[in-house]
Amino acid sequence: MNKKALNWAQLGFQYSKTDYRFTATYENGTWNAGSLVDDEMILVHEGAPSLHYAQQCFEGMKAQSAEDGRVLLFRPDLNSERMNLTTQRLLMPEVPKRLFIRAIEETVRANSAWIPPYGSGASLYIRPMLIGVGENLGLNPAQQYEFRVFVSPVGPYYKDAGLAVISLAVSEMDRAAPAGTGSFKAGANYAGGLLATLKAKELGANEALYLDSAEHRYIDEAGSANIVIAMKDGSFITPSSNAILPSITRRSLMHLAGKQLSMKTEERPIDLRKEFAQFEEVAACGTAAVLSPVGKIWFDKKWHTVCQDGQTVGPIMQEMYDLLVGIQKGELADNFNWLHEVEI
Ligand SMILES: *Cc1c(COP(=O)(O)O)cnc(C)c1O
Repeated sequence: MNKKALNWAQLGFQYSKTDYRFTATYENGTWNAGSLVDDEMILVHEGAPSLHYAQQCFEGMKAQSAEDGRVLLFRPDLNSERMNLTTQRLLMPEVPKRLFIRAIEETVRANSAWIPPYGSGASLYIRPMLIGVGENLGLNPAQQYEFRVFVSPVGPYYKDAGLAVISLAVSEMDRAAPAGTGSFKAGANYAGGLLATLKAKELGANEALYLDSAEHRYIDEAGSANIVIAMKDGSFITPSSNAILPSITRRSLMHLAGKQLSMKTEERPIDLRKEFAQFEEVAACGTAAVLSPVGKIWFDKKWHTVCQDGQTVGPIMQEMYDLLVGIQKGELADNFNWLHEVEI
């Protein structure tokens, strides 16, 4: 199929309207089969619980073109499992894995002209979402739900193309309570973070970095990405916290660091101030951020530089990035069976 005439290499992380989206409805205890539609607008009741009480959740993933033309998803089964952990927490109906995967495959296939070509540096972002719709007023779960999947071709999440070094500013605001909803991809977690992101940007940072909300000591995560750290002792660590989103990218990087690069890996609380001097390289990771090396972090009223100059990508994160992206694009061996091909 002919590709759209887009300037793929110039794309940022923005919504572009593609031709089709998938929608399915849950009513009277069952899901309908769902179908592709071309209308990007959703008509919902003014009393819908998703609008008032944020009874909604979402997922994020990407489809990539391989050199041989295959279209590859990365571990979509984990997105399905994570969405269904969120649905339990928010009293929403589970989206069956078969429906979830089929919806994604159909949407990607129907929009194949929008899938950025191999080598363009862009990819097709996929946004599955589940919203409580239907008439409601009191604080009750919705009676009806819409599951929708739309896609948009995207470039890098942080402005500069490629492996750009970013900076983070520790937020004075909390993202999520220890036994709250921080570990779920629920929209309710994100509106409160908009101001924290704005404040971080005012300091010249790309994003806010959250510490644990109980003690403001341990690293939780960035606004839309988890944190991984290569320590001076050669270990590769990531925060353990029940308030952070269990990033699929982070879980994959930890696995690659341990199994493929034979590094000592550990998931444990990381005390930012106490341990900062032991950080060799830091990165933010996620579907959108991929792996973005962090050059400096703002805390205690000043910038703290990671590595020597805070601007150069370190060798460990470069290797991790090459490994992860190489697998996602089908360039390197998929040793752990992470890729899911969409027949176009
Ligand atoms: C989506 C998201 C991530 C990244 O998760 P991936 O599964 O790697 O895409 C990290 N943190 C937050 C807060 C997120 O919403």
